Amino acid sequence: VGDSKDFDEQVKSICPFCGVGCQVSLKVKDGKVKYVDGINGPANEGRLCVKGRFGFDYIHHPHRLTKPLIRREDAPAKGLNVDPANPLTHFREATWEEALDAAANGLGGLKSAHGGASVAGFGSAKCSNEEAYLFQKFIRQGFGHNNVDHCTRLCHASSVAALMENVGSGAVTATFNEIENADVAIVIGANPTENHPVAATFFKQFTKRGGKLIVMDPRGTALKRYAEHMLQFKPGADVSMLNAIMSAIVEEGLYDRQYIEAFTENWEAEKAHLANFAPEKMEEHCGIPAETLRAVARDFATAKAGMIFWGMGVSQHIHGTDNSRCLISLALMCGHVGRPGTGLHPLRGQNNVQGASDAGLIPMFLPDYQDVTDDGVRSAFSEVWGTGDWSSQKGLTVTEILDAVHAGNIKGMYVLGENPAMSDPDVTHARDALASLEHLVVQDIFLTETANFADVILPAAAFYEKTGTVTNTNRQVQMGRPAAPPPGEAREDWQITTDLANRMGLGWTYTHPAEVFAEMKQNMPSLDNITWDRLANEGAVTYPSLSPTDPGQPIVFGDGFPRAEGRAKFTPANVIAPDEVPDTDFPMVMTTGRQLEHWHTGSMTRRSAVLDAVEPEANASLHPATLRRLGVEPGGKVRLVTRRGEITIMARADRAVAENMVFVPFAYVEAAANVLTNPALDPYGKIPEFKFAAVRVEGVIEG
Ligand code: SF4
Repeated sequence: VGDSKDFDEQVKSICPFCGVGCQVSLKVKDGKVKYVDGINGPANEGRLCVKGRFGFDYIHHPHRLTKPLIRREDAPAKGLNVDPANPLTHFREATWEEALDAAANGLGGLKSAHGGASVAGFGSAKCSNEEAYLFQKFIRQGFGHNNVDHCTRLCHASSVAALMENVGSGAVTATFNEIENADVAIVIGANPTENHPVAATFFKQFTKRGGKLIVMDPRGTALKRYAEHMLQFKPGADVSMLNAIMSAIVEEGLYDRQYIEAFTENWEAEKAHLANFAPEKMEEHCGIPAETLRAVARDFATAKAGMIFWGMGVSQHIHGTDNSRCLISLALMCGHVGRPGTGLHPLRGQNNVQGASDAGLIPMFLPDYQDVTDDGVRSAFSEVWGTGDWSSQKGLTVTEILDAVHAGNIKGMYVLGENPAMSDPDVTHARDALASLEHLVVQDIFLTETANFADVILPAAAFYEKTGTVTNTNRQVQMGRPAAPPPGEAREDWQITTDLANRMGLGWTYTHPAEVFAEMKQNMPSLDNITWDRLANEGAVTYPSLSPTDPGQPIVFGDGFPRAEGRAKFTPANVIAPDEVPDTDFPMVMTTGRQLEHWHTGSMTRRSAVLDAVEPEANASLHPATLRRLGVEPGGKVRLVTRRGEITIMARADRAVAENMVFVPFAYVEAAANVLTNPALDPYGKIPEFKFAAVRVEGVIEG
């Protein structure tokens, strides 16, 4: 931290990491960001976590891509074999003209030879709303298909599926800051002190003023010591635990009859279903005593105002949609939606995963979740785009696209800012798929693991080098601004996609992201009353905004839901076992996630000096008793083996992890957690079961 003499300029922008969307002031000297302060944004009120404060210098890292690259004809076979410090062993530098021609000819050639559905696109939740919108438009308009998706598929797709089904909207019903008006809050399957650290500070403050926090997680999280109740339930037993809590609410007559009657449907079916889940019957299954389940039921149901927050511990299961259905039902039956201090809030992961989803970067929806199979919807977009119709078939999702590559149906891909060679489940399968593509275009800021497999690499600007809007977990649309120029010849993603589109003959004329935003508004009612100028002046507006001066509505659905007759729906959920249960060969449970210091696949944070210094080595967390049983000292090595593969990794002792579990962060390529994960999918959200795989853990004797 310094004072004004330490910098030439300060620029307001948004932290590029998590969905909290903290506003930052970037202090710039000699064209470089020198340090970062938090400023008074609506979500962060001046606060920042360690990533926001110290995770900025990756933008000046020597590994940045500065010139377009084309795979050399004499390059070794495609594989995870490129040194990001020396890519010229596999690629040659090219001019932009040459690289864009190669990309367009490669993808366009596949379209001519095999049809547009032979090409798919992965966009990014790290790019701006305008860039996400252009990316999905490029695939739909350019290839006539809907094979476009992004990492929402790997984080909250099941939450969105359940919210769309039962509430009629995929976004949060209340900002996380509303917790200040709550009496009780449930945090389930989330570890906000590590993954949404600034939101966690609001949760802690809530308990300091007497709010009751109920934490539910198979891992004991740091929020545990603030909790009135800590329910460390058995992995995968979410539905039995939540149904038991709701069953107790019904049995003890604590539900909100008036609310249910006025605002919901299907209550009788839900009520009858819950009769099968008495706490005394479910306690062994979920591992939580019946009296605790009943105490939680009473605390939540009798509170004046209650909120529910959840993370990927809920969503990343083959029953992720059922888990979210239970949370929605719990809030509805207690009338805890639509008032101050109430609401449903899936804590979104990436800084712009809400915005990228809103902008239509998903295979079944156009912008604002408008159904791609609806002829009227497509024709409204065709009119704005000045183009003909395209396929009415829903496209394939992230993991389905990679399966289709293996099946030979998808032959080319355009990957912008995603890293499936690290982030997909059973990543060996994903890497094999990428290697087999006839043409792969990767657009990114670093030579990621995915770029190892590329035919053409397009160097992009980092978030702090570009202009664009992003939407955080709270539905707050905020303005990102450039603080430094992109290095070398790197360019902003919207410019690159526009150039590529024009080489495909699409005739785009955008000269600034503001023009893209104006186009988005034509078919996105969520952006009504939100203009580029407002965002430039005000910094943030929450949608929905009811007038040109309304800062936006932090709480929605107080007077009904965007569903038939304005009613939300109860959808009963049954207990489904995880796809792969432990057995004698693989007797323990592996779960994966993020760590405080590292972001997702590590491409940015492992190139941030402070963050890398704090957490430099791949590690897995196990209970000390498990390590003793294995004969491994903390800091020693363990081998983790699943049906997909094995990794060797440093073991860390952690009492928060149950004795039959191991937790593995997925940021480390040298011990990639996703070599091990199970690709089985939730049938509704198509999200993989990252949170549960049967694993064998062996001690490694180092010689
Ligand atoms: Fe960035 Fe999230 Fe940390 Fe805020 S809480 S500084 S948005 S990583």
